[in-house]
Amino acid sequence: MNSIVDVFYQIQKLRISSTNMTNATEDQPKTKFDWVPQRLHEIEKSMTAEFQSLVEAWPVYNQWLRHVKGIGPTYAIGLLAWLENPVKNADTVSKFWAYNGYNTEEWCTDCNKKFFSHPEKKETYIQNKLKQLHLAFERKKEKKEWNEGSVRLKVASWICTDPNHRIIVRAPRRVRGRLLDWNPSTRVLFWKIGHQLCMIKPPRFKKTGVYRQLYDSYKADYEKTRGHLLLEKGGKGHIHNMAIRKMVKIFMYHLWRVWRTNLGLPIRDPYVTEYGEHRGIIPPLMDDGEVSNE
Ligand SMILES: [Zn+2]
Repeated sequence: MNSIVDVFYQIQKLRISSTNMTNATEDQPKTKFDWVPQRLHEIEKSMTAEFQSLVEAWPVYNQWLRHVKGIGPTYAIGLLAWLENPVKNADTVSKFWAYNGYNTEEWCTDCNKKFFSHPEKKETYIQNKLKQLHLAFERKKEKKEWNEGSVRLKVASWICTDPNHRIIVRAPRRVRGRLLDWNPSTRVLFWKIGHQLCMIKPPRFKKTGVYRQLYDSYKADYEKTRGHLLLEKGGKGHIHNMAIRKMVKIFMYHLWRVWRTNLGLPIRDPYVTEYGEHRGIIPPLMDDGEVSNE
């Protein structure tokens, strides 16, 4: 299931790039390859039809996801196929955010390394990376022996240890040569979903989507509290991205919460500070009614 969803998103990507390719030659005579995007689109359509019947087997889809305008079967299948175990494993929403790369991290801008103000968090990080590297080592079946000491040194070299350096808090980014801390596929999927949810507004749609409304309110907040950004080059885009990111985090929280409730797993509401200033907890939103069974 997981890999067929991956194949689907790759076909979608190919269809988009092959469409761009044929569009670019519009005033020229039709090429021999115009059927490529068409065929890919047909495959996509057939797969989407299959996905529709598959997603209906998930209670989290029937109770909530299908009522969010903008989440069609092609987004739903990615969420459902890829995230069941992460939802089970994350006993707090912060862990779920981090799995998808939507957490923040301390970062040293002097040496371009991670920084940890809590020693336990640093040790947990090192242990996790050792585990990941050990798995990768075993998969490769190399003849060399596993040298824990040297691997540990390597991981430690990704961390800044100078308390006098300038530390910022930021969204995690990919650094060449170092292991990722999140799932790149689901991170991209949530990024796409965020932009999709943002498009649910008139005139294309009759009503503004519930998550678009959240985005609008976050954007207005940021324009007030971080108005100075608007004076900078690209500041408008920066505020737009911050507002989408915050809206997506709430969407993720809702997914995590409805899904865990369905699985009979405990949920703990996030701390208000993690969640955003004074708004309190927002229950799962739907474009046509309320979530039942809550
Ligand atoms: Zn440093």
